Amino acid sequence: MKRKTKIIATMGPACESLDGVRALVVAGIDVARLNFSHGDHESHRRFAQWVRAAAESEGRTVALLQDIQGPKIRTGRFPAGEINLVNGETVQLKSGRGMAAPGWVELDYPFLVEDIQENERILLADGQIRLRVVSAKGETLRALIEQGGALGDFKGVAFPDSDLRLPLLSEKDQLDLTFGRELDVDLVAASFVRGAEDIERVAEWVAPGTPIIAKIELRAGYERLDEILERCHGAMVARGDLGVQLPLQQIPRVQSDILQRTNASGRVSITATEMLESMTHAYRPTRAEVSDVATAVGAGSDAVMLSGETAVGEFPARAVEVMDLVCREVELDLESGSIDHLLTEEDPFPSAIAQAAVEAATALDIETIVAFTESGNTARLLSKYRPRARIVAFTPEERTRRRMSLYWGVEPMVMGRLSSTDEMIAAAGKRLLEMGICEAGEGVVMVAGVPPNESKSTNLMKIHRV
Ligand code: PGA
Ligand code: MN
Repeated sequence: MKRKTKIIATMGPACESLDGVRALVVAGIDVARLNFSHGDHESHRRFAQWVRAAAESEGRTVALLQDIQGPKIRTGRFPAGEINLVNGETVQLKSGRGMAAPGWVELDYPFLVEDIQENERILLADGQIRLRVVSAKGETLRALIEQGGALGDFKGVAFPDSDLRLPLLSEKDQLDLTFGRELDVDLVAASFVRGAEDIERVAEWVAPGTPIIAKIELRAGYERLDEILERCHGAMVARGDLGVQLPLQQIPRVQSDILQRTNASGRVSITATEMLESMTHAYRPTRAEVSDVATAVGAGSDAVMLSGETAVGEFPARAVEVMDLVCREVELDLESGSIDHLLTEEDPFPSAIAQAAVEAATALDIETIVAFTESGNTARLLSKYRPRARIVAFTPEERTRRRMSLYWGVEPMVMGRLSSTDEMIAAAGKRLLEMGICEAGEGVVMVAGVPPNESKSTNLMKIHRV
């Protein structure tokens, strides 16, 4: 059997060539992530071309995921390229993103003095440095350096205790999303989502119908997860920033809660960041990292993500291979079925058919479920019921084929439109035999819509002998 859990790999300097990308595709990535917090449009354009070319030449389906930066706050710059913050001393802060005066730190948030109150924490450089605000005067804040260190240019800033006013979508995000449409990206991930309105706003800028993944990496986003899930296509446990916003010890509990609620709502779940972090510089991961990947897979992630490991690491393809091996091993113990309720979609019929198809396949020990799908919706629903059987999803839409490569257990394929359901079932049976997926006489559960070729019309299940 093929691996069911999908692997997302972040593109970056470590794989910046056709051969570099091809090595990741061969190692098994299902989704290539273009991280718009880094790189320029031209480099993203090259990656998009390489990903498509490598997938084509290797006979694989790889989706392009555009990850927009969102309202991430950063420091400005320092005359010496960095500033040394000493424990117990204080430092002056002001709004800005330029070159700070010696001894000062500029933070790219316009309402610094208005919104940040005395005693609130400011975390810098992914939480490595901790300040506590002691006073405000005029345009500046003074903060005690509780945990100091060297702080470089443009480092990330978090205000875990404060209520911030941030634009829903920055000008950069708008430009990037417009460019993403030009690249014809398959999926979009939105960073620092705080509520459903953030998803609505992103939806206005993407090509119609593009699935949007909400990155849960702020306390507000976690608190409003239910409303976000109603509006998005999937949610990512973005542990990097979430681990700065919340106390670290809460991350495992929050992770399993987000995964569980995302899956129960029928949305796609992704676990991300530091999964094989040590492989950025080492050929072998730590035991703890292997265990972390296994936990994320066992807890029901549809996909697991590599960040720096493939973007800037020394062993990008090896990191994908390790991810692949660990996922497969965990999947050996997979129990069929995870949710026992009807997924609440606008139309409950497709969900009920998907649930019945998975139950029938399990009861009959059938190894293949076939879905015919226009939008990919049926494949997603089948996937969420977590069958042991593979899900072969036929679609006439190239775009849908790529999008479905994110879905757990789904093997996307293209098949032209046929005028009747009978013809589709016959053609699918023939393809399964040709590809060696099934043997003659084998039972297959087929899921389709009558009349055919309509989106979200799934209403038929057939137990079929090929
Ligand atoms: P990032 O998002 O890699 O874009 O920061 C993921 C995370 O924060 O975990
Ligand atoms: Mn993040």
